[in-house]
Amino acid sequence: MRLAVDQPPPQHQLVLAGGGHSHALLLRRWCMRPEQRPAATAITLVNRHSTAFYSGRVPALVAGLLAPEDCTIDLRRLCGLAGVSFVQAEIIGLDLKRQDLGLAGRPALRWDRLSLDLGAVTAAGGWAATAHGAGAMPVKPLEPFLAWVQQRQAGEMVRIRGGGAAAVELALALRSRGLTCRLLMRGTTLQLGSAAANRRGEQVLAEAGIVLERQVPEAAQADLACTGSRAPSWLARSGLPVEPTSGRVLTEASLAVLGHPRVFASGDCGLIATAPRPASGVWAVRAAPRLASNLRRSLEQPERPLQAWRPQGRALQLLGDGGWQPSGPRALASWGPWVLGPSRWLWHWKERIDRRFMAGFLELGSEGRRPAMACRGCAAKLAAAPLAAALARLNPQATGPGPAEDAALLGTTAEGQLLLQSVDGFPALLSDPWLNARLTTLHACSDLWASGAQVDSAQALVTVPAAAAGLQEELLLQTLAGVRSVLDPLGARLIGGHTLEGRDGAGLALALTVNGRTPPERHWPKGPLRPGDALLLCGPLGTGVLFAAAMAGAASPSWIEGALERMQHCQAPLVELLAAHGCSACTDITGFGLLGHLGEMVASSVSPEALELRVILDADAIRALPGALELLEQGWASTLAPSNGQALALLEGPIQLRRSAGSPLRALLIDPQTCGPLLAALPAERAEAALEALRGAGFHDAALIAQVATTMS
Ligand SMILES: Cc1cc2nc3c(=O)[nH]c(=O)nc-3n(C[C@H](O)[C@H](O)[C@H](O)COP(=O)(O)OP(=O)(O)OC[C@H]3O[C@@H](n4cnc5c(N)ncnc54)[C@H](O)[C@@H]3O)c2cc1C
Repeated sequence: MRLAVDQPPPQHQLVLAGGGHSHALLLRRWCMRPEQRPAATAITLVNRHSTAFYSGRVPALVAGLLAPEDCTIDLRRLCGLAGVSFVQAEIIGLDLKRQDLGLAGRPALRWDRLSLDLGAVTAAGGWAATAHGAGAMPVKPLEPFLAWVQQRQAGEMVRIRGGGAAAVELALALRSRGLTCRLLMRGTTLQLGSAAANRRGEQVLAEAGIVLERQVPEAAQADLACTGSRAPSWLARSGLPVEPTSGRVLTEASLAVLGHPRVFASGDCGLIATAPRPASGVWAVRAAPRLASNLRRSLEQPERPLQAWRPQGRALQLLGDGGWQPSGPRALASWGPWVLGPSRWLWHWKERIDRRFMAGFLELGSEGRRPAMACRGCAAKLAAAPLAAALARLNPQATGPGPAEDAALLGTTAEGQLLLQSVDGFPALLSDPWLNARLTTLHACSDLWASGAQVDSAQALVTVPAAAAGLQEELLLQTLAGVRSVLDPLGARLIGGHTLEGRDGAGLALALTVNGRTPPERHWPKGPLRPGDALLLCGPLGTGVLFAAAMAGAASPSWIEGALERMQHCQAPLVELLAAHGCSACTDITGFGLLGHLGEMVASSVSPEALELRVILDADAIRALPGALELLEQGWASTLAPSNGQALALLEGPIQLRRSAGSPLRALLIDPQTCGPLLAALPAERAEAALEALRGAGFHDAALIAQVATTMS
């Protein structure tokens, strides 16, 4: 839960289901005018991807005139700026009695107010089941359709079912990619809103060599279905009132659902019963201001009546021709019975409107694109220097051989197994409490896995922000369910814990004590490293810089999505795999970065004899998460990186680079990691087989990164 600092503790939970056009504009409004955000309300947006398409630009994307980033809104970032929690999940149902939204693979989300802006999926559109049954690719949802477009080869024939604006624009866009298109229509004319627009549309298609087939039988084979849209079917199943043909949720003019004043619907999934409009992005956009004011009123002044929205009667339609001619793209405009174009200036006009719409999102928060906030996750740890100094003062007599182990040895079971314990945690890295808890748990468990132990149990210390009891219950439930989502598949148990209420504006934080066991022969310390060892890094690096840059909007949404997916890769199977290949020492790469943790392995290895270890590090072999090196090159870094930089001095001592490394790679060596990979030492002669085994088990980014040798001191 993210709250603006000056907001009172939240009492209500508003869930925005779907990141459609209305909701994206709502978030934008709250970024620009935080005072218009509903007071004392925790707000969560749920969307299946972290980006949403601006539909007006999709045909130009298909035509290859624009890149995906020109047409997508970064919802995760927008939520961050608006103080809204972002949950990336598939919504699968709605329980009106319990007031919760069902999500795939994770607990349902409770709401006091729910706003639906989920768009639509492609409908059979009168083609009965054959539109999908015959294997045609539905145009909605857009993401799979766009992936399908990428697989089409120039010269390929595409038969498109449909005769509306989307079918016409996509046929022209695909033509611009060098495909041959035919349009299969059930009736005799296009459906562009007027006879004049239909005629002009037919001319444009004919010029482009796109054949129109009329009165095509229902069973005719097609490749792409642009056959109109219908709302997701689970909306009707939930018991909400829907229009029978389209399944769109029926609302009052206020956008509150008929008979359900706590639920709102806008965009393609909603339909005002007294003023129905066709499914189109225009109305999703226009509805946003009224939706914003009515959601606020419903939460802040529920006794006052909501205000009606009177949508305009008709909308201007601008259709691009994809730019298949060498002279460049043109557009056709239609408004009621009138039609203009196609012409180049209409295209420029359309582009200007679309560019302005997108700029309204891209320019948000772009002032001073450097992270204003300190980094979170494992990058929120204390630097190495104060930690070491405090421990030295606490225990001045200690003259141990090297750094302490991350997992402490508690004792031995009757069967001779070693009992190990570790503790870890940090302020929430993400605003999604469930996913945040998953990541924190995986991170905490990795200390045990690096010791060769399997996880048995955990206890959790959860700090929940000040809020109404129901909201705290929800945050705690989501957090504990996230912890269990890691422990349950391991056969480990959550055996207890404590809760705290965050004071002075403190947000959600989670720390875990994790307990495990291992046979003594598989208890891996950090060192000593042995001459002849190879070092195996079990995954990629780069989470510190990626999340630092994401706070300033400088990281591509796909990089963050990729990093989050990789961070959720459970490392428990590595214990058996590494043991089977002779692992003798291991650590996990976390707050101090690769070099800091490798330095600890080396420090655990200094022998009193004349021989000193030398680690030859092949920095080029280290895998980076997509985007990490680009960001480091641009000068982005986690707030913990500067203090981690002390470890670079090791490169003048016991750790030597095989080849000189450029500055991004050197910066990657000190990047703090959340859910970072294990770093294992094993005999060099077994290293290749170990690498193959790891990659076979799904650890595709594992790499042999160093050799251990000796030198005369
Ligand atoms: C090719 C094409 C071109 C178009 N061009 C135009 C145009 O120029 N102008 C225009 O006005 N309209 C256009 N449209 C229509 C336009 O796409 C829709 O009317 C518009 O996108 C509807 O907006 P919305 O806010 O209802 O939802 P959408 O923009 O569809 O957004 C819905 C969001 O909800 C998410 N979502 C859906 N279901 C779930 C779920 N179960 N769980 C989690 N998340 C979910 C989706 O991922 C999506 O991000 C076009 C349509 C197509 C197919």
